[in-house]
Amino acid sequence: MRSIALDIPVTKTEHSRIGEVDMDHLQFGKMYSDHMLVAHYEDGEWKSAEIVPFANLSLSPATTFFHYGQAIFEGVKAYKDPEGNPIIFRPQDNWKRMNRSAARMAMPDVPEELFVDGMRKLIDIDRDWVPSADGTSLYIRPFMIAVDEFIGVRPAEKFMFIIMTSPAGPYYSKPVSIYVQDEFVRAFPGGIGFTKAAGNYGMSMYPTQQIKAMGYDQILWTDGYEHKYVQEIGTMNVFFVIGDTAITPDLAKDTILEGVTRDSVITLLREKGMKVEERPISIDEIATAYKAGTFKEAFGTGTAASIAPISELTFHENHMKLADPETWEVSNWLKKELADIRYGRKADTHGWICKV
Ligand SMILES: *Cc1c(COP(=O)(O)O)cnc(C)c1O
Repeated sequence: MRSIALDIPVTKTEHSRIGEVDMDHLQFGKMYSDHMLVAHYEDGEWKSAEIVPFANLSLSPATTFFHYGQAIFEGVKAYKDPEGNPIIFRPQDNWKRMNRSAARMAMPDVPEELFVDGMRKLIDIDRDWVPSADGTSLYIRPFMIAVDEFIGVRPAEKFMFIIMTSPAGPYYSKPVSIYVQDEFVRAFPGGIGFTKAAGNYGMSMYPTQQIKAMGYDQILWTDGYEHKYVQEIGTMNVFFVIGDTAITPDLAKDTILEGVTRDSVITLLREKGMKVEERPISIDEIATAYKAGTFKEAFGTGTAASIAPISELTFHENHMKLADPETWEVSNWLKKELADIRYGRKADTHGWICKV
């Protein structure tokens, strides 16, 4: 493992807020660690990366991303290993995905030293903010925004890259109920569905608000042409266990976010000898399997939620209920296996663990 070679200047806070955190009752995304990494891009290159106390930004109201949404982000997690050292799960994969998002949004590449080594240095400084109880972690949020002071519509020339972190408890405490959406659309070929661009989430708020009012937790999006093939959930990829096969939508049409957890799940299931299919799957196929009694499990996968069992899938009047998620073989095995790797309790045979 490389050492932190990057020479990022550090200004430490004089007033750590760690004493204000109740590590036993962490909520997701509400507290931020003492420090953040901030880098500026100008004149075609990254300049002046530094780690500074977490603080508000001062930006002109004319800053472009406020208006036109040239903004992308990532989500990564750090865990405490059994020796109490922080470890980060697959940050290189998030770095690569960030740059795929950046290219599509006409934003500059973030160098690996800035993204990965900068993150390691930040976590090292705020290591006391990585909680150690099972199910907890330090959520890491790298993001990039366009910061030209110009309200004309054109690709920006100035950008900021920031990494902030937040101690997190378990994301969902209960199995999720899902509403299959066939009116509003999240992504279509040629669009930005495969990126973690801010606009993908902004546009989902209204449909999500509506289904929450109906008593559901999350939307499962369907394709933009036929409203028939399932894509993914708001912030999670989706898997269905039908018969002896785990099925997840394929990435072919650039409409689905290539989840790091999705890839980890596919890898682990295949190694275990389970059949995994990445292919288009229609809501009709799922409904038919439900009727036939072969639809056994459904779960979402993502960094924030890990493995989130789906207790109900509603499509129009069809309420498909899946009982007793705590007894499901595949998702519970995955949950445990992934946790063992992420918390460094099991040997890392895939090169997924990055030491700080
Ligand atoms: C972040 C995200 C995921 C999950 O990706 P991971 O890399 O596993 O965290 C899935 N779908 C969407 C839309 C997302 O934003």
